[in-house]
Amino acid sequence: MYWASPITNHQSQITNMQLLDGKYVSEKLKGEIAIEAAKILKRTGRKPHLVAVLVGHDGGSETYVASKMRNCEAVGFKSSLVRYESTVTEEELLAKVIELNADADIDGIIVQLPLPKHIDPDKVTECIDYRKDVDGFHPINLGRMQRNLPSFIPATPYGITLMLKEYNIETSGKHCVVVGRSNIVGSPMSILMARNTYPGNCTVTLCHSRTPDIKSFTLDADILIVAIGKKNFITADMVKPGAVVIDVGMNREVSTATKSGFKLYGDVDFENVAPISSYITPVPGGVGLMTIIGLLKNTLASANKEVYR
Ligand code: NAP
Repeated sequence: MYWASPITNHQSQITNMQLLDGKYVSEKLKGEIAIEAAKILKRTGRKPHLVAVLVGHDGGSETYVASKMRNCEAVGFKSSLVRYESTVTEEELLAKVIELNADADIDGIIVQLPLPKHIDPDKVTECIDYRKDVDGFHPINLGRMQRNLPSFIPATPYGITLMLKEYNIETSGKHCVVVGRSNIVGSPMSILMARNTYPGNCTVTLCHSRTPDIKSFTLDADILIVAIGKKNFITADMVKPGAVVIDVGMNREVSTATKSGFKLYGDVDFENVAPISSYITPVPGGVGLMTIIGLLKNTLASANKEVYR
């Protein structure tokens, strides 16, 4: 059972800025997903089933996969973890993916990135059956997304669109600047914001490491989405007053102040940018939690055969 707290505005003493509260929205949406999962169980006798493949012992990957598994169980999904040491060969990994593709009890497969250097991540991504590709990274899903056809949408951009919807943020006609062009976040995000739908209908600028004078673009953004992996890269002088700011960055630093032994920082200098923005996501407690929702919703859609029959 999930208890949704009202949307809080605990920064309002500073400005009229509203926090885009990933904790609140994700708990609310998990409640809805759990209801749908229970319906599937009642109708079919089985739970939506996500399999995660984890290679090696990268600290960040361990944390993300554990969180995905925990959240699956919390909404009534079945989750399974397949683990390999980082010495696994590309052939062994591909053979496992092919085996998982053929297993009728599995609705979604994710292979946690990054992979060791000797394994080609593109080969692995393309080996996953696109009908089970709940990370939405397969070229078939990316192409279908670009054409506005039913597809699995990459989990982080999907989660961000759900967040924008939840807060009824107007996007049509706005200038959306995305900083970072990765295949998993920046590029698909830019496509989603340009599509002829809601959220979307933005005029989109996609910036990256070869963009000269990034500030001249970010300063013009009504909606600024940052995914580059550089702590506090976006400073207050780079943000238009009243902008909506979405911070995807997850920069882990060792810390003695936390139980986990590390502290997370975003790509945006939250303390100084928050007072001039209209809406902003915190790190942690923002986009990261919504990414899990994107993954859960894709897995649910797969179990319901909503995207592919
Ligand atoms: P990535 O694959 O490393 O891509 C980084 C992108 O940022 C690249 O397009 C790069 O440009 C660009 N970039 C790097 N330095 C730049 C600079 N100084 N100015 C402008 N652009 C610059 O990263 P990613 O996988 O998208 O992840 C980005 C961040 O988001 C990381 O902190 C990651 O941990 C986090 N993340 C969070 C979630 C979540 O759920 N919250 C999910 C995924 C990722 P080039 O293409 O020119 O190299």
